[in-house]
Amino acid sequence: MKDKLKPLLEKHCLTREEAREVLSCGKDPEAVARLAEEAVKIRRQFYENKVFVRGLIEFTNYCRNNCYYCGIRRDNPHVVRYRLTEEEILECCARGYELGFRTFVLQGGEDPWFTEDKMTCLVRRIKEAYPDCALTLSIGERSGEAYRRFREAGADRYLLRHETAQEEHYGMLHPEEMSLAHRKQCLYELKKLGYQTGAGFMVGSPGQTVESLAEDLVFLQELQPEMAGIGPFVPHHETPFAKEPAGSVELTLFLLSVIRILLPRVLLPATTALGTLDLNGREKGLAAGANVLMPNLSPLKNRKQYDLYDNKISTGEEAAECLDSLKERVARAGYCLVYERGDFCGM
Ligand code: SAM
Repeated sequence: MKDKLKPLLEKHCLTREEAREVLSCGKDPEAVARLAEEAVKIRRQFYENKVFVRGLIEFTNYCRNNCYYCGIRRDNPHVVRYRLTEEEILECCARGYELGFRTFVLQGGEDPWFTEDKMTCLVRRIKEAYPDCALTLSIGERSGEAYRRFREAGADRYLLRHETAQEEHYGMLHPEEMSLAHRKQCLYELKKLGYQTGAGFMVGSPGQTVESLAEDLVFLQELQPEMAGIGPFVPHHETPFAKEPAGSVELTLFLLSVIRILLPRVLLPATTALGTLDLNGREKGLAAGANVLMPNLSPLKNRKQYDLYDNKISTGEEAAECLDSLKERVARAGYCLVYERGDFCGM
């Protein structure tokens, strides 16, 4: 086991073959503990014991895409669709600012109603009203020109999970009109424009193998994202993957540690999906190397409608209104919840 972990622990980088070797240790409790220990040590070096919070605003559940895993896919006729107005989005920011948030994440399905012009105007209004806050967009694949305009309007960060870096696996998760090549091209474009860029993938998505995961690790090293979103796949009953098993919490934690070691300064959330599958998922994520939490700031009336997978949590400590109890839980786990913008260390 020690030999298999050596390249990761000593070089902080992995060839495809070395990545496979590391992944083969995912069920070995000794290896899991060793990597978690190293991950926590590295995170402390760059971010002390800080855990950053982001206010998540899920502003539209309309989507033109038909990803096989996602509850808000275009062909799900049972979704009650909603889109927040610009005023509602600004109200979410106002509430979030009051609660102490200094990063807002605007996430949504790929909704063409929010045209390039509308999004540019929205970004500008938010940044004018809250110049001391960071703004993250997570609205899928757009043209290079659109990304450039959002950036010029003030957007600081962009989350776009690559979902899987293996062509064949990408084809199992998405219909033909979507392509991994385009997804990657978007990510490189975002990096070039100076966004703090987030890639990532679901753990345990149908068809995932040690080979595809090794490919994910190699791709992350190549892209060098400032953020990485890694969470378990959770089935949604109205998707083609309704009967597929959920991803493993343990493997997700192991991968969080691996990614912290590979990308030492990365901003790494303990995701909502992890908290959905395990009541203590967030704390376990932090203990594995994560350093970001993303409480939900969306209007209460819409929270259930952003239904990506079954039983998705959006109230309790997942809700922005419960920040105090989240803070307490994080403190009990030995960390300090901070309200700063929480930029990538070195930006
Ligand atoms: N449309 C944007 C995009 O494509 O990046 C952002 C919204 S999309 C719903 C956000 C993320 O939710 C996806 O990148 C995917 O990894 C995750 N997701 C969707 N369905 C999921 C599921 N069933 N289980 C876990 N995560 C899921």
